[in-house]
Amino acid sequence: MTTQELLQYDRDHIWHPYTSTIDPLPVYPVAGAEGVTITLADGRQLIDGMSSWWAAVHGYNHPLLNAAAEEQLKKMSHIMFGGFTHEPAVELASLLLPLLPPSMDKIFFADSGSVAVEVAMKMAIQYWQSQNKAAKSKFATIRSGYHGDTWHAMSVCDPVTGMHGIFSGSLPIQYFLPQPPVKYEDKWNEEAMSPLKDLLEKHAGEIAALILEPIVQGAGGMYFYSPAFLVRARELCNQYNVLLIFDEIATGFGRTGKLFAWEHAGVEPDIMCIGKALTGGYLTLSATITTQSIADTICSGEAGCFMHGPTFMGNPLACAIACASVRLLLESGWKEKVDAIQAQLCRELAPASGLDTVREVRVLGAIGVIEMKDPVNMAVLQKRFVDEGIWVRPFGKLVYLMPPFIIRPEELRRLTSGVIKSLK
Ligand SMILES: *Cc1c(COP(=O)(O)O)cnc(C)c1O
Repeated sequence: MTTQELLQYDRDHIWHPYTSTIDPLPVYPVAGAEGVTITLADGRQLIDGMSSWWAAVHGYNHPLLNAAAEEQLKKMSHIMFGGFTHEPAVELASLLLPLLPPSMDKIFFADSGSVAVEVAMKMAIQYWQSQNKAAKSKFATIRSGYHGDTWHAMSVCDPVTGMHGIFSGSLPIQYFLPQPPVKYEDKWNEEAMSPLKDLLEKHAGEIAALILEPIVQGAGGMYFYSPAFLVRARELCNQYNVLLIFDEIATGFGRTGKLFAWEHAGVEPDIMCIGKALTGGYLTLSATITTQSIADTICSGEAGCFMHGPTFMGNPLACAIACASVRLLLESGWKEKVDAIQAQLCRELAPASGLDTVREVRVLGAIGVIEMKDPVNMAVLQKRFVDEGIWVRPFGKLVYLMPPFIIRPEELRRLTSGVIKSLK
């Protein structure tokens, strides 16, 4: 197949994320990727500024992750998890649990971030049902969140930028609070808690859990909010008997400058979701983790167990790669790397705040965000970036960088200068 034929077939038959079949946005055929370099079919090379949506923290084609995959492939790539267990799953659980909040004790391996969120929400429902509190069946969340594209995950995504308009007739109605108004570095203002306090005061009897992306809201707006919000949200959830779910699918594994974002506030959730960078971007794998007490309460109910079990649960190939990825992360000096990326992003993106099309520039950990005043024309801007030799995919008003942690300063400079030049 020539590249032209491949592109034509793709255009005629294959769906891409959030894309029209009538007038699809252009796609770039990619031949391979190594380190932070993506090679297109025509030989052009791009520096990766996206980590394939928060996932490829070690870059592409990493020899250690490749070796882990090859070794596991020779044993078995998959085996059902019903009635079997295996070393990759047990090893991964034993690697992860000590890195998670101390109260986290029971881990459920699922196959994508959205499914991990569904699992977390089902756990919350079953937890209350086991205690004869079936009325606690709704969820509270904050605006501008993103939790995935499946049904209940979608119901707690931002009601404006999410898909509520289209699916409102059949989506469960949840309670939405304003986005926390106090930014990450700003002075705390207790008034920010009034909406949550008022909601719980009136409706705690119907609410199973509050679900949040701690500190960093990702695909819903790339916004960083005050750790004090989490501290106070935890207190209010305790006071009103509502579970707290942290969706760390995007924030996990060092991206925000802490290994997990809960550490910014020192606040432990009742249920936590991880995914994305879990396998270093190699395969889809996620996990939902909870406390022993919540797990045992769920299982003491009428059902006698937690009611979920995906076909590819605990996939050994994905778990083996995840083990290698987590070990590599811990041994790689990730913290120094992320701190250095943060400092460089701060320095080199700052000039963008002088452009009159730009509303705000913000940086936390290895995340650099340029918020524009108006939505960008993705197709036009994407092509400009490719012409600059960089891979950056903006959405809405947001142009952002979240490079693999292994990026070198000169490579990161090409990303920051390429972005600023294109925006000018
Ligand atoms: C990406 C993401 C999800 C969904 O993960 P998928 O693997 O795409 O299903 C859920 N929550 C957050 C915070 C995410 O960033």
